[in-house]
Amino acid sequence: MRTYRIAAVPGDGIGQETVPAAVRVLDALAGLHGFRLEWTMHPWGCAYLARTGTMMPADGLESLAGADAILLGAVGAPGVPDHESLWGLLIPIRRHFDQFVSLRPVRSLAGVEGPLRDGRPFDLVVVRENTEGEYSEIGGRLYRGRPQEMAVQEAVFTRLGVERVARYAFELAAKRSGRVASATKSNGIVHTMPFWDEILSEVAADYPDVELTPYHVDALAAHLVLDPARFDVIVASNLFGDILSDLTAALAGSIGIAPCGNIDPSRQHPSMFEPIHGSAPDIAGTGTANPIGQIWSSSLMLDHLGEREAAARLTAAIGEVVRSGSLTPDLGGSLSTAQVCDALISALTKDTAL
Ligand code: NAD
Ligand code: MN
Repeated sequence: MRTYRIAAVPGDGIGQETVPAAVRVLDALAGLHGFRLEWTMHPWGCAYLARTGTMMPADGLESLAGADAILLGAVGAPGVPDHESLWGLLIPIRRHFDQFVSLRPVRSLAGVEGPLRDGRPFDLVVVRENTEGEYSEIGGRLYRGRPQEMAVQEAVFTRLGVERVARYAFELAAKRSGRVASATKSNGIVHTMPFWDEILSEVAADYPDVELTPYHVDALAAHLVLDPARFDVIVASNLFGDILSDLTAALAGSIGIAPCGNIDPSRQHPSMFEPIHGSAPDIAGTGTANPIGQIWSSSLMLDHLGEREAAARLTAAIGEVVRSGSLTPDLGGSLSTAQVCDALISALTKDTAL
């Protein structure tokens, strides 16, 4: 039987609820499609930090290296500075495994009322550069507490880094609508962006069937709010992509439904799949977290592993369950995490009976 080794890191807060929920749904789905998922659970995160002094063991990255994919919940807990939790677990995984694409598809779902009045249905993907750009490690704080105190951060854009994420976006657009929107700010003040634009144009020359449109990121944000349906693939730097993808997730109705794949397209390393939301300490432990962001991320994972049919069936089941009104409180419903999973599993099995 086809078997995939999945390293699961539930992490903190609602990750402890959404990851087990996803495991339950995925095991049911795997059974229907004749493959098996071999789970290894890693109890890393802020509770682990409190016990051991680190977010994950020293050989943590090594122990993930043999997995076919990583499924992460969320990290972060009240009382632990975010830079400690994120840089202690999430960022090292993204960088060590060269997961240079952050793939963030978002679409409007029938049955979910988004914030847009009379919005046309939309279906787009933000391709965010995930290893360099504005989130570089070069910089720091100087002269703390003095009038001269300063914070400096260097944005690092490399030809290799921009070109590879651009190629990924163009390949994706070639399979979709043939349109790429690039988020830029090439007004001559931000030095890195004319370089970004130049490389995007060079890559575009290799894809005559794909149309590239650069937008200043501020104008792009405004266009997204007014009419997201005009966009398909949006390629953006690390910071711009982070901001735009939270915006597009909110346009779809809740950050609780939006998925993310941190992908190494070369497949030399495992890719990591996680919802875009955080650990939601305000609702952790109540059993009401929306599991859809986690489960949709799991569908991206199955697609990446080559289980395309199962992945498509899972996203279809998500659409059906949401349309039928089986919703958690963030979407205006009153179901629990477990009840939404039950609804998903029954939608998946009903689908087989047909
Ligand atoms: P958050 O995403 O955890 O929560 C924001 C709001 O959305 C909260 O009101 C929360 O209840 C709600 N929400 C989020 N996910 C939900 C879900 N699945 N179902 C229902 N409601 C949901 O963001 P935050 O409050 O800014 O951050 C909390 C912690 O999470 C922080 O420590 C932060 O650093 C961390 N964080 C981690 C990641 C990650 O692991 N990738 C991402 C973002 C934030
Ligand atoms: Mn974000």
